[in-house]
Amino acid sequence: VILTGCGKKRDEAPRDLLDTIKARGKIIVGVKTDTKPFGFLDKDGRNIGYDIDIAKKICYLIFGNETQIEFVPVTPSNRIMKLSSGAVDILVATMSVTSQRLQLIDFSSTYHIAGQAIMVRKGSPVTSLKELNKKKVIIVYGSTSEKNLRLAVPEAMVIGYRTYPEAYRALKAGKAEAIVADDTILLRFAIDDPSVEILSKRYSMEHYAVAFRKGKKSERLLDRVNFMIETMVRSGEISRMQEQWGIK
Ligand code: GLU
Repeated sequence: VILTGCGKKRDEAPRDLLDTIKARGKIIVGVKTDTKPFGFLDKDGRNIGYDIDIAKKICYLIFGNETQIEFVPVTPSNRIMKLSSGAVDILVATMSVTSQRLQLIDFSSTYHIAGQAIMVRKGSPVTSLKELNKKKVIIVYGSTSEKNLRLAVPEAMVIGYRTYPEAYRALKAGKAEAIVADDTILLRFAIDDPSVEILSKRYSMEHYAVAFRKGKKSERLLDRVNFMIETMVRSGEISRMQEQWGIK
């Protein structure tokens, strides 16, 4: 009787994240679908970008192929909720590590570093963050820029959007003086559009990392992802991927 009891306990051991993903036969990843060149859709509606390639590497790590993966669109304001509720297994979504977020979720090693920058219409008199005081400034809800702007320039009139393309269109339409956001995200708009420019100063270091639900169940996959990222950094593979997507 005692032996049977022991055996039973073993069988009922709760599955961790890696086991759950393997048993399901696919990994479910929260990604951006409107943030070029990190997570966006090609003309056939397929998810592509630098974040998507990182997610596919994680899929390869688990299954030995890059196809047993499902992408779920997330925005900066709903991604932590999608992760915490279990709608996705992990997030690869231009997400920076911050001390506040670390209270809610876990992060992998860094796979990209961006910096917060200001984008204005060409010819704008604005030259620095401080000059945005009492002016209308666009941010994307849930981003680190929203928080930094409210702290650094408390009297700025903050106008929020859910996505970066909406924020960009609002700047173009003259709804505000500037957008504050990560340079590598803003760059994509400025490259194709001579009517806007990114000011040279950077106001933060944004360490992009893969996000996991907090706790023991995530540990095994998190350790493997860290090893993978660190190996890719050392071998130069990360650099090559950044070059490929124009963010180096
Ligand atoms: N990296 C910043 C963040 O995690 C901005 C990009 C984004 O909003 O996804 O908030």
